[in-house]
Amino acid sequence: TARKLAAGNWKMNGLAADLVEAEALAKAFPSPKVDVLLCPPATLIAPMSAKVGGSAIAVGGQNCHAVESGAHTGDVSAAMLADAGASYVIVGHSERRTDHGETDASIRLKTQAAWSAGLVAIVCIGETLGQREDGETLDVVGGQLAGSLPDDCTAANTVVAYEPVWAIGTGKVPTLDQIAEVHVFLRAKLEDRFGAEGAGIPLLYGGSVKPSNADEIFGVSNVDGALVGGASLKAADFGGIIGAL
Ligand code: 13P
Repeated sequence: TARKLAAGNWKMNGLAADLVEAEALAKAFPSPKVDVLLCPPATLIAPMSAKVGGSAIAVGGQNCHAVESGAHTGDVSAAMLADAGASYVIVGHSERRTDHGETDASIRLKTQAAWSAGLVAIVCIGETLGQREDGETLDVVGGQLAGSLPDDCTAANTVVAYEPVWAIGTGKVPTLDQIAEVHVFLRAKLEDRFGAEGAGIPLLYGGSVKPSNADEIFGVSNVDGALVGGASLKAADFGGIIGAL
């Protein structure tokens, strides 16, 4: 079975003053039963790493470029994230697929870049509302999974996050049966392709996870944790989610 992970994605939120939330989290969870990760904006990776260094809280990036260095103004490489103290990076978030035209092929390259820098890649997939209403959910997430994951995924270097686009920041959450259907399907695909390693790759659910619904979501089989947006910004909220896992 896969290890459990509570991952917070701060998105484009957070100034230096907000690092107190990471400190509070580290204090509240000196030895959590599950892995805990915060992914702040790139500007806060180094100072957050300095603040929570030595604690059980890991720090990650929200995106990386596919190459290690070069003429790519404004971009950040996986090696730079690692150098700043990150141990994970989120790749292929739906907001990046939409805002920056990221494709399964580019996400596969970013995942390999993450591994080269020694980072764990959190690869995001998920259907839109229209795709769900058209009955295409499993086709869409199956295609994204196949296209976004390189060969050589292991339980140690990869995490998959299922985030239905229509559940992100909307307060709308799929039914537990809908989450179960997708997670069982994804687990089978991972095992088909990666064998025993596929059985150990953590499968996170993301989209409007809060302290009040975390417990029931974590009760769904093949849900190994959550990728949390809004409710990861405050230590009190995120702590409630970590405690439920
Ligand atoms: P919310 O938890 O704010 O819905 O965001 C989910 C998400 O996109 C995490 O990556």
